[in-house]
Amino acid sequence: MSKQVQAIRGMNDCLPQDTGVWQYLEQVLRQTVASYGYQEIRFPIVEMTDLFKRSIGEVTDIVEKEMYTFIDRNGDSLTLRPEGTACCVRAGNQHGLLYNQEQRLWYMGPMFRHERPQKGRYRQFHQFGLEAFGIASADIDAEVIVLTARLWQQLGLSGHVRLQLNTLGSPEARQHYRAALVEYLAAHDDQLDEDSKRRLHSNPLRILDSKNPDLAELLAAAPRLADYLDHESAEHFAELQQRLTAAGIEFEVNPRLVRGLDYYNKTVFEWVTDSLGAQGTVCAGGRYDGLVEQLGGKSCPAVGFAMGIERLVLLLQTLELAPELPSQADWYLMAVGLDAELGMIPVAEQLRSAFPQKRMMQHCGGGSMKKQFKKADKSGAELALVLGGDELERGCITIKWLRSDKPQRTIPLADLVSELQQN
Ligand code: ATP
Ligand code: MG
Repeated sequence: MSKQVQAIRGMNDCLPQDTGVWQYLEQVLRQTVASYGYQEIRFPIVEMTDLFKRSIGEVTDIVEKEMYTFIDRNGDSLTLRPEGTACCVRAGNQHGLLYNQEQRLWYMGPMFRHERPQKGRYRQFHQFGLEAFGIASADIDAEVIVLTARLWQQLGLSGHVRLQLNTLGSPEARQHYRAALVEYLAAHDDQLDEDSKRRLHSNPLRILDSKNPDLAELLAAAPRLADYLDHESAEHFAELQQRLTAAGIEFEVNPRLVRGLDYYNKTVFEWVTDSLGAQGTVCAGGRYDGLVEQLGGKSCPAVGFAMGIERLVLLLQTLELAPELPSQADWYLMAVGLDAELGMIPVAEQLRSAFPQKRMMQHCGGGSMKKQFKKADKSGAELALVLGGDELERGCITIKWLRSDKPQRTIPLADLVSELQQN
């Protein structure tokens, strides 16, 4: 035997036993965002590398070390998208969707980051994301968060996720704060770990997000962004909290929540769970008022989020909230002998026209009645429709219930549709 080719590390297949949960989740997502008036947008999986450098930021983990970047045959540097917001803004700018307009958009699809694969962290993973453009006020921040809360409710996850909230203020306020933070951390640089030392001058705010317990004390005593906030951002944040409270949504203000992408200002938030171990963030987002202009469009305020589909699937499975998988088929169609098989072909198609919701599996490969009933049973079907030589001659068909003791019946073929409609 020749050697099998394996999938790339960190890139997963989704097998039939799992696609049911994915479809269920996707359907709840689509339905929920549609009920808030959001429309789907699709964009390519590959973009110019520059797009991500200019949006996510040169000195972020994603751009520094996680992107799948390659030179294509024309010599252009291309990158497999590591996230959707930059792509969405690029598409919005390119097609004139953003200037002087409001847009409520969502997307779903694979993203790529060269990270260390582990539970809940993969190299190809999937995000569902949502972006609202053209509205600067806190009401829309509240809307996208209320929408996520409704999603958790729909999925039965409400008691299992917590909302963390923070504000990053204006870029100017953050600049002042950054200087104060660097000064403080530099004065204690003997206590910093390697990662934090590296970030001290490139991305110091990200140090606040460190998971290293040895830094906890140092960071707890660090200057607080809240003390450097500009008036407008402070008011925006207060109003957002007021609106969330009015919506009955609990939240925790976490002054250390900073997010790993550079484009955020004002509101940032994460929904986290304690049920998945270290990879506990299932949804993350915030406001990014400067990004549209930064990518060459006319200034346009925006707010959005992305959620990790794999983590949500894991959570649904861990908590046993995934709906039970349906059997493979509802009805199993059997025919014994070539004549009966030929007779079954138009009957099967007629049934599919009459009952488009029913999943009908037609036996293939011939064999005895006994063998076919075994397959019918295995398919999980509730009903077998049997055309044997006997029935064929009489222009009849037999209906046999596989999971109940309703009596088996042989009826004229002409009555089949109406008979099944009554059941
Ligand atoms: P994390 O802190 O977990 O690395 P992040 O800040 O890098 O997350 P975002 O870029 O904001 O994440 O992406 C939004 C969401 O996408 C995350 O909250 C998570 O649910 C999911 N996600 C991000 N990276 C991965 C990955 N490598 N594998 C699976 N899901 C991911
Ligand atoms: Mg990350």
